Amino acid sequence: MQNRTYTADAEPGDSVTVAGWVHEIRDLGGIAFLIVRDTTGKIQVKFEKDEMDDDLVETGLSVNRESVVKISGDVKEEPRAPTDVEIVPTEVEVVASAEPELPLDPSGKVDADLSTRLDNRTLDARKEDVEAVFKIRGEVLRSVREQFRELGCSEINTPKIVATGTEGGTELFPITYFGREAFMNQSPQLFKQLMVGSGLERVFEIGPIFRAEEHNTPRHLNEATSIDFESAFIDHTEAMDACESVVKAAYEGVAENCQDELDALDVDFEVPEGDFPRLTYEEAIERINATGELDEMLVWGDDLPTEGEKALGEDVGSHYFITDWPSEIKPFYIKDHDDEELSTGFDMMHPRMELVSGGQREHRFDRLVEGFEQQGLDPEAFDYYTKMFKYGMPPHAGWGLGGERLVMTMLGLDNIREAVLFPRDRQRLSP
Ligand code: ATP
Ligand code: MG
Repeated sequence: MQNRTYTADAEPGDSVTVAGWVHEIRDLGGIAFLIVRDTTGKIQVKFEKDEMDDDLVETGLSVNRESVVKISGDVKEEPRAPTDVEIVPTEVEVVASAEPELPLDPSGKVDADLSTRLDNRTLDARKEDVEAVFKIRGEVLRSVREQFRELGCSEINTPKIVATGTEGGTELFPITYFGREAFMNQSPQLFKQLMVGSGLERVFEIGPIFRAEEHNTPRHLNEATSIDFESAFIDHTEAMDACESVVKAAYEGVAENCQDELDALDVDFEVPEGDFPRLTYEEAIERINATGELDEMLVWGDDLPTEGEKALGEDVGSHYFITDWPSEIKPFYIKDHDDEELSTGFDMMHPRMELVSGGQREHRFDRLVEGFEQQGLDPEAFDYYTKMFKYGMPPHAGWGLGGERLVMTMLGLDNIREAVLFPRDRQRLSP
């Protein structure tokens, strides 16, 4: 809209036209106020009934909350107004009227349950705190991209429709692709690995992953955003360094550029300091057992149950890595240590949950094919991938970071669905 003034820019003495939503209507009798909201904030509009044109007053005050209005007028200083200024209108236009009954209250005074909120995301995201989550999410992605640039990565995009999954047929959504069976990709894993063997060497991708997970939890989505890194000529410890730097960069970016949003959310926000502790898997299970939180003691080879992750998170109290996992519970593409019981796989944890899985990759063709067979996968089906390991595949390492989990843990959100505009879960396929 030409010649529109944002509410935050309206200064006393200006003649302005603001456009936005009717946030509140306060009629005190002889005098009435509209609070108009736009993306920059809110401004008070004053109607003095006896001193103004009747039509103007009638139009301005008969409008329903959340209607879109365009108001022209003069900005005056007014210490009693929420922003110390108000508009005395000369023209009011109702651009798009809203029905009197709203499915939820965008002023945030009345809480709505998550399901109602997600069904009406447009209205929900008019709330300051919800808008703040998505502004911060945008800043997280911006800072992460910038850090990847610092690390010398090229951004890539890999296919989301694939012939085979990353780890076989489980957890995949099948689709029909011109009469052939295909799948929505559960991870860019194999494709990003193929690119470290190209001239790009070091890559990152931010894109959707699709997982047909049956479980319905506050930290799983069926479509999530994965932040992936992969680099030639590094080992798993250097991949962990990169991981730590990217996560810290996300926090630093938000601290630097999103103070208003953090205030709107009223979160306990701290940029992580110092090196993230690195525990081995063995230390991790010992520490979990020592907390006494689990009914049954963990033994070598067990995957960490959710309760165990929580107990350990509380014990450690900061982001941390778990390294040296048993080879048998890490995927085939992760390289083992010389002691083949142990893998170079690692997870990076927030005290509340897992954020990242990564590791050094198996780049030796014969070992890779053996790994497929050991996991009961047909290497032939992955020929497009394995064959490139015959033409000079450098040693490499990398990781995948859950974007929504990063935002969720950073902001202390209870449910991962709050970190996605239009979440996909078992029940929810629209909007
Ligand atoms: P979990 O054990 O917590 O279900 P995972 O080990 O199956 O996760 P990975 O395959 O290691 O997940 O994926 C790497 C990262 O991607 C995870 O650490 C997590 O942050 C994110 N992620 C994986 N699956 C999901 C999902 N269904 N919803 C949201 N984020 C996910
Ligand atoms: Mg994992």
